[in-house]
Amino acid sequence: MSYVKDVLAQLVSRNPGEKEFHQAAEEVLDSLAVITEKNPQFQKAGLLERLVEPERQIMFRVPWVDDNGNVQVNRGFRVQFNNAIGPYKGGIRFHPSVNLGIIKFLGFEQIFKNSLTGLPIGGGKGGSDFDPKGKSDREVMAFCQSFMTELCKYIGADVDVPAGDIGVGGREIGYMYGQYKRITGLYEGFLTGKGIPYGGSLARTEATGYGLVYFVEAMLERRGDSFKDKTVVVSGSGNVAIYAIEKAQQLGAKVVTACDSTGYIYDKDGIDLAALKEIKEVKRGRIKEYVQYRPNAEYHDGVGVWSVPCDIALPCATQNELCGEDAKMLVKNGCKLVAEGANMPSTPEAVAYFQENGILFAPGKAANAGGVATSALEMSQNSMRLHWTFEEVDAKLKGIMRNIEATTSEVSKEYGMENNYVFGANAAGFLKVANAMMAQGIV
Ligand code: NDP
Repeated sequence: MSYVKDVLAQLVSRNPGEKEFHQAAEEVLDSLAVITEKNPQFQKAGLLERLVEPERQIMFRVPWVDDNGNVQVNRGFRVQFNNAIGPYKGGIRFHPSVNLGIIKFLGFEQIFKNSLTGLPIGGGKGGSDFDPKGKSDREVMAFCQSFMTELCKYIGADVDVPAGDIGVGGREIGYMYGQYKRITGLYEGFLTGKGIPYGGSLARTEATGYGLVYFVEAMLERRGDSFKDKTVVVSGSGNVAIYAIEKAQQLGAKVVTACDSTGYIYDKDGIDLAALKEIKEVKRGRIKEYVQYRPNAEYHDGVGVWSVPCDIALPCATQNELCGEDAKMLVKNGCKLVAEGANMPSTPEAVAYFQENGILFAPGKAANAGGVATSALEMSQNSMRLHWTFEEVDAKLKGIMRNIEATTSEVSKEYGMENNYVFGANAAGFLKVANAMMAQGIV
């Protein structure tokens, strides 16, 4: 058996039931076979075995009291995967589907994504099966305070710096920041995605969505094309989706869809972003309310966003939301480029179909790295006690995304796999971490 296959088989048998983690590891390791064959020193140093084993996995009880006076118990997670190139960095997800396998898949992806940004950050991820939806602000605060009371023992500005993810936005980060500060007495940059008055970075809210569009813009430019007059289909209506829509519209595209977990909207005239922001960011409402603002738009219950014809598709909701059948529909309807705003939204069947059919496909670990890159810029500002302007941060973000696009493109070419951004991202992200691990000995 080849080295890569051997490591994968061991991983599956040692981590039973963690199917998302298996999926993410398989996707990365498949790309690495060609590199490990050329570099036998990696096998000798047990590099892949060490890479797929988190340095630390923390699971903890999160008790809190709801508005009816009942005690609730959730489970908290933090997986500190790899700190070869910098402190662990990665978001916190609050969603009922969260389990160890999901946090490990996200933490594993984060190692390579963070490496691709060119900034000194390692990989980690955390979360809880707590669902903030439908909870009062007081309940969310009680949960966040309890979660941080335990988590604060394991994180710090130079140790592990969490951020937001699904279900964790400015409100949750604020409550967690307050609790850590209260317990430790430290005013430091141990969380990113903070509010602007207390150390947050301008452009962090926009960063993942804008970064995704900057990445696609660079892909298009490389081929003498642009966003102008392109029809774009976006899924999700959260932080990533909203700002991807905003930037794509600013660059002249027409974005015609958005969705949440109950249904999707199709607005043939282009999404009214002010209406979408009001529903999602102000009212925390459901996407179906959109037709009250735009009576000519359509609302459909359930899935189906990928059946809408487009030139470019940007999945920005959640993992495995775009399956093989969806991929076939997109290709049949003329889609030419797919770039992932979410983490692992396309199933392996979908990715294979895109690649077999000549669709340009950008994986999340490269295309959505703008969020974590800007989080790292927030860490720099906190350390320097400085505050950069929106324009300064946005310009750095754009530079980073264009650089990731160029690196992934060049590495894929170097290995004879031109246009294969999956290979480029895995290989480029891996090599930097691997070289750092080799230099640091067997640890
Ligand atoms: P949000 O919680 O802000 O938004 C998630 C959106 O996806 C919501 O509209 C949600 O709808 C929708 N959604 C969730 N599950 C489904 C489903 N099964 N089908 C359809 N829609 C669904 O999260 P973010 O925008 O922050 O994150 C989205 C993705 O991007 C995640 O994969 C995340 O890991 C990734 N990401 C986020 C970064 C960031 O900076 N925020 C950085 C890099 C990656 P509903 O409200 O109904 O649940």
